[in-house]
Amino acid sequence: MKDEEKKEEICPQCGAPLGEITSTPSGRQLQRCSKGSWNEESRKVEGCPYVRWLAVPEQTLDEKCPKCQSPLVLKVTRFNKKMKKCSTNTWDPATQTASGCDYIEWIGGPTTEQLEEDCPKCSEKLVMMTTSAGKKLKKCSTNKWDRNSRMAVGCDFVEWQ
Ligand SMILES: [Zn+2]
Ligand SMILES: [Zn+2]
Ligand SMILES: [Zn+2]
Repeated sequence: MKDEEKKEEICPQCGAPLGEITSTPSGRQLQRCSKGSWNEESRKVEGCPYVRWLAVPEQTLDEKCPKCQSPLVLKVTRFNKKMKKCSTNTWDPATQTASGCDYIEWIGGPTTEQLEEDCPKCSEKLVMMTTSAGKKLKKCSTNKWDRNSRMAVGCDFVEWQ
């Protein structure tokens, strides 16, 4: 994070500054309101109960959002999945809504993108899929993996790129 992006963190519940960042045994970081503290004996929070869980810091990328041309940021979720998202996209915890551009691109896992092409076998739409190994294939959108039977269902059209 760049220095100019750092701002004074204020508790949204009582307006007091947030306390120091502490780490849980599992390695997650949290910041408690400076007016609140965890009492080991009573196992209760005394004072302001606000706790802010820290996301893994975002990293601004040298890439532009294909939707709005703003810079993209790289984000790692708490489940260790990586994604690129638009820097204008912000989550407002007060209203529980996201605002800004909604562009997200998952990295590492397979991704699919809807294509404006029809399947030569069944005339349904095709999707472009990028595997975790970075290989691309076109496949029929009706083709799905059925977890119960552990078999692929739907049309079997696949075209490796
Ligand atoms: Zn507070
Ligand atoms: Zn965008
Ligand atoms: Zn098909």
